[in-house]
Amino acid sequence: MSLKPLAGHSVARRRLARAIATGQLPQVILVAGPEGVGKQRLGLWLGQLILCEAPGEEPCGQCRTCRLVLGLTHADLHWIVPIPRPKAGEPDKQVEEAAESIAEVMEERRKSPLYSPADGMSSHGMASARLIARRAALTPVEGKKKVFIIGEADRLVAQESSPEAANALLKLFEEPPADTYFVLTTADPGKLLPTVRSRTVPLRLGRLSDAEVREFLAAHMEPAPAAAELNALVTRANGSIGIALSETGQGAKNRKAAATWLEAVLAGTGPAAERALSQAPWSARGEFTDLLDAVAETLGDAARDAAGVPGVDRVPAALEGREPGGLLQAQALVAEARLAAQGNVNPQLLLAVLGGDLAEVL
Ligand SMILES: [Zn+2]
Repeated sequence: MSLKPLAGHSVARRRLARAIATGQLPQVILVAGPEGVGKQRLGLWLGQLILCEAPGEEPCGQCRTCRLVLGLTHADLHWIVPIPRPKAGEPDKQVEEAAESIAEVMEERRKSPLYSPADGMSSHGMASARLIARRAALTPVEGKKKVFIIGEADRLVAQESSPEAANALLKLFEEPPADTYFVLTTADPGKLLPTVRSRTVPLRLGRLSDAEVREFLAAHMEPAPAAAELNALVTRANGSIGIALSETGQGAKNRKAAATWLEAVLAGTGPAAERALSQAPWSARGEFTDLLDAVAETLGDAARDAAGVPGVDRVPAALEGREPGGLLQAQALVAEARLAAQGNVNPQLLLAVLGGDLAEVL
């Protein structure tokens, strides 16, 4: 399957197309804007335009390059997404593992291009930084140019443990190789490492119009929503296709399960561990880690809300009004449980212990 078209952002598109036509496109761009408005999709669109064999105001959509980009198979378009921390100990092996993890995500996105955000535990660690540096040093495979899209760049982790890798990446942003472009995206520029942010040229995206969201959902959602559902989705989306999509499907189910579980742990009487156990069992390990991810995400949303970050609107009642410190501590506990869940542990037992721990810090 190929990528869905980019919706909206006509002003930004025109500006970028003009910059390319006049040879003034900055090599390192930071695309900032609300969650789910298509920042990474705009990065892919820009990559397609940079690489297209017959570019105009828009990529031609017909040439070999365009087709490869739209199929996410262009060798010089590197879409770097947050991934779980590699398990290997040795740096070279970690880079290989990072490359494999990213390839797996790309495979998923080829199959279902309407993706949800990366889970709360994923990041751009040093292995990803090394991977980017290595790929940036290679000669382009297809043509003359290379494009890197670094999604959710605020998840680039500062790592004192390997300053060389961090510095290599900063050096790349400072003096990118000729004909190499970096498009970083973030919903929260304030969270980006200042050393990274200062090396980028900002491009701000706004929310989409209701009409743009409606048109996109009507054309690309599967199964197509009924009229009433479509209206409700457009309203809740508040100019974000990503939010509309996350309201449906597995992601929404997981967040609902996470909220129910958190409510059970925090409310009611008797020991929290027992309440945690009273919840439905999770048989498959994948389902279980998805639930933990959703719990971590929910705690993160609640922490942002508690810290006064505007626009967070998915906080379960049981978490409202809690201290940001406790919420972040709780999130760290979930991260530990997530690691333990990779091993051979009983999910129910892990969940019971975690429930007790969360009730203590929250
Ligand atoms: Zn083209």
